[in-house]
Amino acid sequence: MNNLIPKIGLEIHLELGTKTKLFCACKNDPEETEPNKNICPICTGQPGVLPVLNKQAVIYAYSLAKALKMKINQKSLFARKHYFYPDLPKNYQISQYEHPLAVEGEVLVIRENFRKKVRIRRLHLEEDTASNIHFANYSLIDFNRSGIPLVEIVTEPELNSAEEVEAFAEDLVLLIRYLKISDASAEKGQIRFEANISLGKGEELGTKVEIKNIAKIKSLKNAVLTEIERQKDLISKGEKIIQETRGYDEIKNITFTQRAKEFEEDYRYFPEPDLPPLIIDQEIENSAVYVETPWDKRLRLEKEYNLDYQTIILLTQNPFLSHFFEESFSELYKFTSNFEETKKLIVNFMINDLLGLLSKFRVELSEKIIHPHEFAHLLFNFYQEKISSKVVKEALEKTIKGEGMIEDIIKEKEKISDAQVLSNIIDEVIKENQKIVQDYLAGKDKSLEFLIGEVMKKTKGRADPKLTREILIDALR
Ligand SMILES: [Zn+2]
Repeated sequence: MNNLIPKIGLEIHLELGTKTKLFCACKNDPEETEPNKNICPICTGQPGVLPVLNKQAVIYAYSLAKALKMKINQKSLFARKHYFYPDLPKNYQISQYEHPLAVEGEVLVIRENFRKKVRIRRLHLEEDTASNIHFANYSLIDFNRSGIPLVEIVTEPELNSAEEVEAFAEDLVLLIRYLKISDASAEKGQIRFEANISLGKGEELGTKVEIKNIAKIKSLKNAVLTEIERQKDLISKGEKIIQETRGYDEIKNITFTQRAKEFEEDYRYFPEPDLPPLIIDQEIENSAVYVETPWDKRLRLEKEYNLDYQTIILLTQNPFLSHFFEESFSELYKFTSNFEETKKLIVNFMINDLLGLLSKFRVELSEKIIHPHEFAHLLFNFYQEKISSKVVKEALEKTIKGEGMIEDIIKEKEKISDAQVLSNIIDEVIKENQKIVQDYLAGKDKSLEFLIGEVMKKTKGRADPKLTREILIDALR
């Protein structure tokens, strides 16, 4: 019992964020609320129509496959997958089967307490189905979703816990957002997870149970956790696991039988005669999106900067954050030539102050809000003890609220406008210039200008002139 290890594989369906559907020019709009608005004879499966492949969908799918370090099939084929269900008007779905777009990739999941390489078995393109809306005595069909481009990603069954499943799903979604090929929004139904779960000894797989159609990562984690417990419980009672498809009830936190599967379904796949082979040509390669994956970035930040785990995770939440970190780091390091000090300054002020203020004022970090070089310059002033940490924070807040440029704020703050500081300097000037003071008191107004000049000399011109004049007049009364 105790030596049974959960083996979990995932199938992920992702709607790509193209402008139009996979085989027709209808709008791909997951936010459309009016049913059957974005439809045409192709995506409603009318006889005699011909599908035309959407190149953007291919470019997005290819970009994802490359980021997952997959082997690309320069030539892949579309196939018809047959089944009968009201959401499928043609009675078949155009998918890829024996010759998918890509095979054999990997994701490296990095968490504080584990690191796990998860192999990806395959990635292929297919069309989404329509959606059924069920009422008490009848159902309605909305074809807006029918024909939206999907990629299906299948992992090897080598995730071993609900935590690993959650972490994998989070990182995959993060990658998709880095690539900007889809919002991967659970709320808009753009991503759906399926988990197959079995318990087995060592490398062995047990009888597998599939849990279908889960949108949110949290629900996926809970479903997997619940199903592992259910199977453990059955095995400990000496009962058999039945191979079946189960649903997950989020509210009751249970999985329930949907349909028993004594044998694999026969979809009677056959090659799609209306579409030519999909060839990955130079144009697709050139148009693809290439990014450093979140996990490669994490490894690199760890290696190059020796940052702690929390900081690395925070900085890789979006590509601009880590870019901002690295840009400001290299700029500040040019001035300080001190690696550890530079790191300490950037990490402290960026994470504790800058990011805190941005979230407080609900502003997204961008170069328009604050350029990394400006940030570095601000911190260098602090490093040189020209300004206090309080001033750094004030400057950040002002620039985030759009109340001034960092450069001006620094200048402003460098100016001595502290009355106490000025008073001390003025007292010195008065002591050192008794004769001039006497002249002034005797009515020689010009002497005042001379004394102000002396204050300016002492402060290298940083004394606030207006305030200096006021304090000086007061002091001479
Ligand atoms: Zn259409």
